[in-house]
Amino acid sequence: MLQGMMMDRPLSVPSIIDYASELYPEVELVSVTVEGGLHRSGYGAARKRIARLAHALKALGVKPGDRVATLAWNGYRHFELYYATAGLGAVCHTLNPRLSEAHLEYIVNHAEDRLFCFDMTFLPIVQKMQSRWPDGMAYLAMTDAAHMPEEEGSPDLLCYESLLEGQPEDFRWLDVDERAASGLCYTSGTTGEPKGVLYSHRSTVLHALCCIATGIESYKAGRMILPVVPLFHVNAWGLPFSAPLAGSGLIFPGPKLDGASLFSLMEAEEVHSAWGVPTVWLGLLQEIEKQGRLPNGLELVLIGGSAAPRSMIETFERNYGIQVVHGWGMTEMSPVGSTTMLSPQMNGEGQDRRIGFKTSQGRRVFNVDMKIVDEEGQALPHDGKASGELYVRGPFIASGYYGNEAASRGCVDPDGWFSTGDVAKISPDGLLWLVDRTKDLIKSGGEWISSIDIENIAIAHPAVANCAVIAVPHPKWDERPLLCVVKAIDGEASKEELLVFIAERVAKWQVPDDVVFLESLPLTATGKISKRTLRQQLADYRLPGQEE
Ligand code: AMP
Repeated sequence: MLQGMMMDRPLSVPSIIDYASELYPEVELVSVTVEGGLHRSGYGAARKRIARLAHALKALGVKPGDRVATLAWNGYRHFELYYATAGLGAVCHTLNPRLSEAHLEYIVNHAEDRLFCFDMTFLPIVQKMQSRWPDGMAYLAMTDAAHMPEEEGSPDLLCYESLLEGQPEDFRWLDVDERAASGLCYTSGTTGEPKGVLYSHRSTVLHALCCIATGIESYKAGRMILPVVPLFHVNAWGLPFSAPLAGSGLIFPGPKLDGASLFSLMEAEEVHSAWGVPTVWLGLLQEIEKQGRLPNGLELVLIGGSAAPRSMIETFERNYGIQVVHGWGMTEMSPVGSTTMLSPQMNGEGQDRRIGFKTSQGRRVFNVDMKIVDEEGQALPHDGKASGELYVRGPFIASGYYGNEAASRGCVDPDGWFSTGDVAKISPDGLLWLVDRTKDLIKSGGEWISSIDIENIAIAHPAVANCAVIAVPHPKWDERPLLCVVKAIDGEASKEELLVFIAERVAKWQVPDDVVFLESLPLTATGKISKRTLRQQLADYRLPGQEE
């Protein structure tokens, strides 16, 4: 093969902030702070603080390959940590504060984090968990000296702003192999412990470029994007990388994510687009309805992480003239896999048809190949009729899980395709339609609940002979868990008793909303509980408070 004669320069995460600080030094990065008030800077000033932070982290002994944990809201210090760690060849490991204590314990120990950076909101979690996390891990409070805690019982804390003081405003980023790790995010497993997805410099840069290539109108120099989706949800869908690369500004909302707070922030900062899960937009729509108007400047809403309901797309597009982009993806895909950026021909159709297209999961992003297969693994046609498990392939899709051989073995087929656990149809014009899920998980407000974890707890109750947890639709949270129980012959327990039993063992928001008692559970031919049949049997069931 005749080789091309182009330079083999590595793709690197810090090159993004170098580029943004040079071309868009004044484009703003605005944060609602945990301490109160706003922090404003441009990409130029942000790069200087990132350099100072990199010097400080290096002085603390952070080395290439080290994992640096963050437990933080969307804010400028969190953004700075992404780039400073990458500039040192280290790995930014974002943690989801909504996880159970057991999962937080597992993840930090499994990742062997070396430094733990957190917003003051999460000090109680740190105090509670510290004795269960690695000895010798350093703790960095993401605040200034005036807001450091004085109480007894606080761990030995380093202060973020004090560390930055006096540090030089430039830093020569470490030359890293583009395949070196730069980010780590754990995702829920169907069973057992969460699994770590380890992003590289190369995958991160390619993902950012391919997101921009979709043509989503958020990406234009000077336009302001509000990531409501947290940085701990797959790096806010890649926005800390794609936005600066495109020259778009970022408005980080901090801890306040209710409709009224988002509305006033959008209005004050003339936000052009906002990105988040459907649950968040319900809150915003209520506020828009209350005020009888839109926040000034808002033109686009990106809805992802769960299926965008048709009624929501209609309300935004028809009632308010806001463009909706619906996106699908996974933590393992960096995460964006498809968006409803339509073809010119689709856009030329009437509004009804266009809204219909947007209820699909959209069309694939460049560099994301898709196939659907039947139960024997045979590829099915993209004819809009055949449905099968969706497999994906591409340079920003996980090839395995960090430090987890068992999970890595099962996730990719012999031809190198990643199995998504989603069941889909693909139409000839490339629209992806999700129709089901093979993974036994429930997505509530953008967060996962493992059915099997809850079942394992419930079955341990003496009154439970057999049980299954299924997802039922919910207008606010998209899905909520329902516990279906077959009672033991001599067992007796009320709904309330069973729910208390579970509540003692999982995070509060993971407790099922209701319990139904059944004579038996439907089984498949191989004797497993058929959740599909169970869902069909309970199709008319409504959660308490949701009855018509
Ligand atoms: P996560 O890794 O937590 O981002 O979850 C990824 C999973 O969320 C996907 O495999 C889907 O099951 C679900 N998901 C994400 N986006 C959508 C969407 N737009 N519509 C339906 N399901 C979605």
